Amino acid sequence: MKIYCDLHIHSCLSPCGDDDMTPNNIVNMARLKGLNCIALTDHNSCGNCRATQLAARQAGIGFIPGMEINTSEDIHAVCLFPDCDSAEAFSAEIYRLLPNTKNKPEVFGRQLYTDWLDNPAGEEEKLLINAAALSITQVPALVKQHGGICFPAHIDKDANSILAVLGSVPAECHFSCMEVTPRYQPESRPDVEAALQNCRAVVSSDAHYLWDIAEADREFILTGDELSQLVQKALKNT
Ligand SMILES: [Zn+2]
Ligand SMILES: [Zn+2]
Repeated sequence: MKIYCDLHIHSCLSPCGDDDMTPNNIVNMARLKGLNCIALTDHNSCGNCRATQLAARQAGIGFIPGMEINTSEDIHAVCLFPDCDSAEAFSAEIYRLLPNTKNKPEVFGRQLYTDWLDNPAGEEEKLLINAAALSITQVPALVKQHGGICFPAHIDKDANSILAVLGSVPAECHFSCMEVTPRYQPESRPDVEAALQNCRAVVSSDAHYLWDIAEADREFILTGDELSQLVQKALKNT
C-alpha cells in the first residue's frame, strides 16, 4: 500500500487557522484527498488533538497528535507524539512557558476548542502564537521525554525557520528529518540542501484552510526511522 501523509495541519485552535478547520472537516478533507495519515499541529497547543483523533478513527485515517512549537528564537518546529496523553502532557508544559498575553480575536483570530463532533468546546484566551520560553536546542530533549520527535518546520521559508533565524542548524541538534514547503525548489537553495544532508525531507502543507491540505502526490516511504514508526503506529490504530 502506498502511504500519503500531511504532517503539519492547523485547526481552528490556531488563531491564524480558519474557523472551518474543525476535526471532522479536516479528516474528511484529508480522506477525500486520498491521504492515509495526518498530524494536527496547532501553534503551541495540542488542545484539539484528542477530538481530531476520534474524528480520524471514524473516518478511518491515521492520526498523529502534534504541535508546532514556537521557540524562544521564534523558530517553528513540528513536534509529534505517539498518543494524546503524551501530547497533552507536553502541551501543558509548553502552556506554562508561554507569556500571559491575552488573545485579541479581532486582530489574531479566534482560538476555538471543539469536541469530536465539531461542537464548540470553549475558546482559549491566552495568545498561542507567542514564543515559548524554550530554545530550539532544548526542544528535542523535552519532546523525547514525552516519547515524541521534533523537527524544524518549513526550513525553506524566510520567516520562523531555523535557517532564516540562525543561518544554519546548530551542531548540538541532531534532527533525523526536516520539513520543507510544497513550493521548495532544491536548485535555488544550496543552504537548504546542505541542511538536508543525511536527513529526511518531509513535505507538509502547513494548511490553515481546508483547501490547502495536501494532495496524495508524494508517497511517504517507511524507512524504519522514528517518523516512520509514528506513521505506522497511527495507521495501525485506524
Ligand atoms: Zn510555522
Ligand atoms: Zn504551521
